[in-house]
Amino acid sequence: MTGDDAFHEASKIVAHDEPNPYEAVVPPIVQTSLFTFSSYADMLATYRGERVRPTYSRGLNPTVRIFEEKLAALEGAEDALGFASGMAAISSTVLSFVEPGDRIVCVRHVYPDAYRLFETILKRLKITVTYVDGRDLDAVGKELPGAKLFYMESPTSWVMETHDVAALARLARKHGVMTVIDNSWASPVFQQPLALGCDLVLHSASKYLGGHSDVVAGVVAGSAALIARIRSTTLPYLGGKLSPFDAWLLIRGLRTLPLRMKAHEAAALEIARRLADHPAVSSVQHPGLGNALPPGLTGTSGLFSFVFAEGVDVAVFADALQLFSLGVSWGGHESLVVPGKVVRAQAAEPNSAMAFGIHENSVRLHVGLEGADVLWRDLEAAIDAGIGGRAR
Ligand SMILES: *Cc1c(COP(=O)(O)O)cnc(C)c1O
Repeated sequence: MTGDDAFHEASKIVAHDEPNPYEAVVPPIVQTSLFTFSSYADMLATYRGERVRPTYSRGLNPTVRIFEEKLAALEGAEDALGFASGMAAISSTVLSFVEPGDRIVCVRHVYPDAYRLFETILKRLKITVTYVDGRDLDAVGKELPGAKLFYMESPTSWVMETHDVAALARLARKHGVMTVIDNSWASPVFQQPLALGCDLVLHSASKYLGGHSDVVAGVVAGSAALIARIRSTTLPYLGGKLSPFDAWLLIRGLRTLPLRMKAHEAAALEIARRLADHPAVSSVQHPGLGNALPPGLTGTSGLFSFVFAEGVDVAVFADALQLFSLGVSWGGHESLVVPGKVVRAQAAEPNSAMAFGIHENSVRLHVGLEGADVLWRDLEAAIDAGIGGRAR
């Protein structure tokens, strides 16, 4: 599918096709914890598994289901499961498929809390994780034999290393290893990893899927069999289910996902190009600059990073910004900035897979929807302040 086809397909999915008992254009929020039964026979049949219907919202809720079905359609998946956060989706997914003694192969530079999950809870369960440079197929191929799961992001957190997702998924399959990919950065508008051969795709829905910085949520999508396994193995007991109100916010956010992604893409590319030409900037890590995009990635989003040349005071720069706010997370309407030093300060081990490669003078930007020109004026003035080392 070309980028344009994907855009039109996604636009159709987000606009229509919700079951709706009132013929209202927006579905209701079924804000209930439990569902009652009309008779004993009905209740017994349901708990015997003879029919599927909502009984309790930790399992199945109609509003949450609308979001799950839409997301499954966007990712070209048979099914999807919504979670109370991206980390709930990651932990419930990974823990559904590994047991003590197993090994996971993971690309270096993953989302910091995914890394911490691997290094704390998984380690305690005697599950080991090997980190590899995902751009090096030979290196990945060497680690795969005997592994249970291959975990990836593309592009990776912060340093934006891109991968040939299809080639990696093919390699993993050859070794009998299932592939899980975090697709939060590209969103299903710009990358559909299941079509590239991945087994499961997950998102922090707190980012682009929600898109308005007002919800923390997650989702995983894949084949009916793999989703059924997560639904029955970890979801009920870890219990991090998506709530009906958050699902409703996500359905609302999805309406504009394709349009928002195009706007983030255009503004971020423009700003990345201008930064690359700026004498105070030594490098820009944006997958859309320079080389062609890796196969399967049809567009780029609003999150990227760059490194200042020596002599720019990052603290003064950060405090001089007026439109970019200092804040973690990303994917919303607003522009954000995080200095690399802040991430490095949280890492116990500076060369761990979490902080490795994050330059002291780097800055991560999320380019929101304010427009490239006003954002650029803000950046330019703050860079001038940073060069002078004085407050604006
Ligand atoms: C934010 C983020 C997560 C975690 O999601 P939460 O919704 O914050 O739990 C996972 N992966 C990536 C790439 C993220 O940016």
